Amino acid sequence: MGSVPESRRGAPARGASRAPHLAGEAAADPSALRSHNLGIVMRMLREHGTLTRKDIEHATGLVPASVTNLIADLAARGLVRDQRAGGIEARGRGRPRVTVEQVPDRCLGLAVRIERERLTAELHSSAGLLLDSASRTVSHGWGQPGDVADAIAALIARAESLAAEHGGVLLACTVTAPGPVGGDNRIADTLDFGWGHLDLVGLVRAAGAPESLRIQVINDSRAAALAEHWALARPRPHVTLYVESTSGPSLGGGIVADGRILAGGRGYGGEIGHITVDWRGRSCVCGAIGCVSTYVGPDALLTSARLTDLAQMAGRAAALDELRARLDRGEKRAVDVALRAGDILGAALRSAYDVVNPSAVVLGGYLAGLRRWLEPGIQMQLAPRSEKLAPVTVESGRLGRRAGLVGAARHGLQPMFEDPTVVPLLRADDAAAG
Ligand SMILES: [Zn+2]
Repeated sequence: MGSVPESRRGAPARGASRAPHLAGEAAADPSALRSHNLGIVMRMLREHGTLTRKDIEHATGLVPASVTNLIADLAARGLVRDQRAGGIEARGRGRPRVTVEQVPDRCLGLAVRIERERLTAELHSSAGLLLDSASRTVSHGWGQPGDVADAIAALIARAESLAAEHGGVLLACTVTAPGPVGGDNRIADTLDFGWGHLDLVGLVRAAGAPESLRIQVINDSRAAALAEHWALARPRPHVTLYVESTSGPSLGGGIVADGRILAGGRGYGGEIGHITVDWRGRSCVCGAIGCVSTYVGPDALLTSARLTDLAQMAGRAAALDELRARLDRGEKRAVDVALRAGDILGAALRSAYDVVNPSAVVLGGYLAGLRRWLEPGIQMQLAPRSEKLAPVTVESGRLGRRAGLVGAARHGLQPMFEDPTVVPLLRADDAAAG
């Protein structure tokens, strides 16, 4: 563990805080207040990379001695270290400016994505490093859910040994799946795999994953929404609405509010692809009638664009690429299909707008590439709601296929940024070595 400099003023702290940022009962509990302040520091480090002690004083309202104390706590958990900036240049001007940075590989989060014929995993650090990735394909889909659970347990074991090599801790494994995931972590409907309702977390534990590891399942579009929200330029919106189309038949979606996935009480929040646009319309895979997915989902677009034959021969992705190529060439049918899709998607987004009032809409998956043609319809539908001085922005997703994994890792690591005391103190020998 690096030495922690004395407070610059050297004065003892008179109070724990000049401006406690917690209200109610938690403020009365010193350990909750401390966790809260530790979380502020870690979130600021995630956002800005490095911080000076002055930055932390401003953000927490703490006196310098208390800031020193907080940093010492985080350093004792192996989460932060001093970075002496300025180097040679600073020599002539007295003491170099000391900044604090995250230890890049102390806290790790494993993200696993299950698809019909593939399992993909990425191991991320809390500082945003990608430490490892793995993928496995199965030729005829997954057999029993236990096969997937075994594969995930093996990925967890691999991640734990990598974490041990780095002197890090694996804090979470977050699995993403297509289709709805209930608030109780159960996959609610695995239409893609034919498994029905499933307690995947229980199966992964039964396959040998440690009881102490936080394991969660979330919908993959919700995870992608989280990642794309955080990929937006600052200042980020309070509410981001995300809609995507990837390999499935429906549009996926997600709502991110105050930086977190808004999944709702039962975990189904954010299913923008199943907003009704015509209550007497087409039947949707979800069992409802007239969902926006039945008009703007990949299969609907390919049918309207007369590309279903190509989709059957070469696959949905190749057919969507062809649609995009025809749009780029300005072919009238393709352009008409995409513009109409923008009108319909806009109608669904307006409904969502009236409920959650986003200030940005992000189009992910192949919708990102169609934004030029979708946006006029979306903006026209949102026009009655859009303030002249603060229009709703429509953006393309920036992370592509990786969005779900990036978001899943971030979601799993979030508890550490709320309360860094979930990370154990370094053992004495580790601390001496560091
Ligand atoms: Zn539906």
